[in-house]
Order: sequence, then C-alpha cells, then structure tokens
Amino acid sequence: MQRTHLRLAILTFLFFSGLNPYSLNAQVSQRSAGFGIPQNPPLVGDTTALALEAQNWLVDLIKINTTNPPGNELAAAKYIAGVLEREGIAAELLEMTPGRQAVVARLRSNVIADPSRALLLVAHMDVVGVDRSKWSVDPFGGVVKDGYIWGRGSIDDKSMLAANLAAFIALKRGGVHLTRDVIFLGTADEEQSGDASIKMVIAKYWDKIASGYAINEGGQVVLKNGKVQYVAVQVSEKVSVNVELTATGKGGHSSTPTKDNPVVHIAAAVDKIGNYTAPIHLTSIVRRYFEGLASLEDEETSKWMRVVDTPDRGEHAQRYLSDASPMWNSMMRDTVAPTVLEAGIRANVIPSEARATLNIRLIPGDTIDVFVNDLKKLVNDPQIRWNISLDGGFAAPNSSLDTDFYALITRVSAQEFGGVPVLPFMSTGATDSAQLRLHNVQAYGLRPMPLTEEDQRRVHGDDERLPMASFAKGVDCLVHVVAEFAVNR
Ligand SMILES: [Zn+2]
Repeated sequence: MQRTHLRLAILTFLFFSGLNPYSLNAQVSQRSAGFGIPQNPPLVGDTTALALEAQNWLVDLIKINTTNPPGNELAAAKYIAGVLEREGIAAELLEMTPGRQAVVARLRSNVIADPSRALLLVAHMDVVGVDRSKWSVDPFGGVVKDGYIWGRGSIDDKSMLAANLAAFIALKRGGVHLTRDVIFLGTADEEQSGDASIKMVIAKYWDKIASGYAINEGGQVVLKNGKVQYVAVQVSEKVSVNVELTATGKGGHSSTPTKDNPVVHIAAAVDKIGNYTAPIHLTSIVRRYFEGLASLEDEETSKWMRVVDTPDRGEHAQRYLSDASPMWNSMMRDTVAPTVLEAGIRANVIPSEARATLNIRLIPGDTIDVFVNDLKKLVNDPQIRWNISLDGGFAAPNSSLDTDFYALITRVSAQEFGGVPVLPFMSTGATDSAQLRLHNVQAYGLRPMPLTEEDQRRVHGDDERLPMASFAKGVDCLVHVVAEFAVNR
C-alpha cells in the first residue's frame, strides 16, 4: 500500500470513528526513513476539511458589510467571537472608539508566558468601499461560483481573517502543547489607519497582544501561467504621507482674468509634481528582492536586475525596471501622486482658493520635510501654501531576515509551493505591520494564497475574488507555518 493510500485510509477511519483526523498530534503518516533513522513526523494532517470550514467563515465575513468608513467592525468581531467560542476559546472584544471594536483571543503555551516569544496572527476586519455599478456580482453577497469566492474583502483582508482563524482553531482542536502563546487579533480601521486602528490596540491594550512575532497581510504568492513563480514575504513597507497645497488669489469676475488665478497656479504645480521623478534609493531589502527575482524573469529583465546597483550600468537598469513596472519603480524611490483637486463654484467666477492633495509614499528612512522641500523648489510659487498632514505613517525598521521564524516561513512556503524561491519584499502599500515593527515585533507579511496579477489587481477594485483552490492552499500553508513554530514536537 502506498503511503498516501495508507494515510487516506487512516484519515477515513479516524473520520468515521468520530476521532478528529486533523488533530495536530495525530501522527498519521510515520514516514519510513531510510536506514532506520526516524524522521520527524509531520505535525499536521490533511487540511482539506478545515479549509472548507474556513471558506464558510470567509463567505459569512464577506456578507458582513464592513466598508470603512464607517467600518461597522463590531458585527464581524461578534461573528469571529462566536466561531471561537464554539471551539471553547474565549474571545474578547476591545473597544477602540465608541462603537468600533477589535477582537482578540489567546491560546496559552505550556511554559511560563513570555510575550517576546508569542506569535500574533493579525488581519483587519474593515474593507474599502465599492462602486456597485461596476460589479458583476453582489459585493456583499458571499457569492461562490466558477471556482471563486467573490466579494469585497475576499482577498483583502477577510481571506487572512478566515485563514488565521483556521490555523488558530487547528491548534486548539489538536490539543497540542504550545511552546509559545499564540494570539488571534482582528483589527478595525486599517484602511483609514484612523483612531480605531491598530494604533489604538497598541496604545490601550498592548498587554493583550504583546508579542515578538506576527503574521499579517502584505506578502504575495505570485501565480503566472498556472504556476506559482515565487513567494514574497513582506518585511518592510513604504510610508504614506498626505500633503495639501492651497493656492490663493484675489478671485473675481471671470470676464477680466488676472495672472493670480489660483486654478491656474494649482494646475501648474500639479503638472510639475505629476512629472517629477525622485532620485533612486535602493534599500537592502529591495536589492535582495531583485537579486532573487532575476532568476525568474526573462533574459533582458533579469540582466538589468542583476546590475541595478552597479556604478556603471545601474542608472540604465533603474530606468529600465522603472519603465517595466510601476511597482518596481515605487520600490526604488519616493513617489508622489496628486489625488484630489478642489476649486471653483461657478463657471463665471474665478475662485479665491484652489487646493490639491498629494499622496506621497516614502522609502522608509527618507524624511517628508526633505522630499517636500524638493517639491517646493520645483514648483517655486509663492502663491502656494504647503501643509504636511500630521497623521501620516511612521517609518519602521525592517523585520529581520535572520530570525528562526523567517527561516521557517521560507522553508515551509518553499515546500508548500514546489520549491519556488521565497523573497523578502518591501510593499509599496501600508499595513498594520509598521505599527507592530515600531514595537519590536518581527512582523512578516504572508498571504499564502496564489494569485495571478489580474486577480491581485482587483484588490480595492471591482469584482474582487479569490480562487477557492488558492484559499485552501493558503490555509494549508498557514496551518503548517503556525504549527511548526508554536507546537512542541
Ligand atoms: Zn488590507
């Protein structure tokens, strides 16, 4: 009998005999090792049934509309608490601001608690809004069809909420001995990073989530032509800061235009800023990412990736890579995108004020004052006032590539996805991880669900959807990562 058949037979037996076949310490497949040397048995069994259960949680969570603003995370928090309580796990709702809650639960280790060893599984419950007219399905209907789970949050970030729940519950069901506390956290207000966000959890309830390690969104498993290409583990992220420009003038009747028209001044400024390219700033993480990616790209791209940091050919390489991908461009430099314009009330009135909002994404370590000064010089217009928003993000240190946990994530996800490269990654978007890293947590972005570029683009867009098979694979990977890190073998 082949090993896989034996394993299936045992699983089937356990299932019908009422025993839990997914018990983490049910060591159902004792691999026969060569020369009688015993190998470590796998910690987890088949996760197929667990993934199906988790898919139902994901569908239910999609049906709870947590569009932020206003968020309405309380309904999702209560749902999650209900799932946990059915497993005999006490969950606690943490009030962030009146009416907005996070949800937290803990599995205790069998040794004296040491927060610096604890593992935090974090995902956010809120989602961004939708333009219903552009969707082909109800974005909050929890539709499952054509092999996909459809809906706002199906990827970002309810897929991680459900997968984290699965990994957490697998530990509880397994009755395993934990070597560290494992904490589940569902956060609110991530999409606006406002007063109800993880900042508030840290400020008010740090003792509930104090940990040395975390798994969060921010990573990617890149699927191309039906094959997983590589796994990107997010260890760093760019910093988002908004700047508002205000042009003022006298205003008046549009039949007698003057040179101080604020609309013209703001338009000229936006034109210059929109065409500005900041100097290159390659971080160690981005260099490592290009190094790893070079082996997977076409000949031309990989040639330039390999010399991106050289004095003679670097400049050309940087230009080539910037042109090839907006993401690579943004990984190599600070960027600025004008996003909002406001001016005017009537066709025949020159307004006395016009405004533009700029969203700036800084490479961690670069400072907003320096960047804005460069822009001011470029615009060189005394009629324009600059106001740097105070609620911008904070630059956090990278998570370390030298921890045992990073090594474990690399090993397990490579195994899971057929030996593909696992690369450290700096995301151009912001996540809750920056706040955790600022509090000494080694946070790793791992969304272990293979996605094509096309499906990845639907995040925050129309018809967001997650392949069912990718979700099941992601649950499997996450269960293995968490079990291998936290279970005493
Ligand atoms: Zn997200």
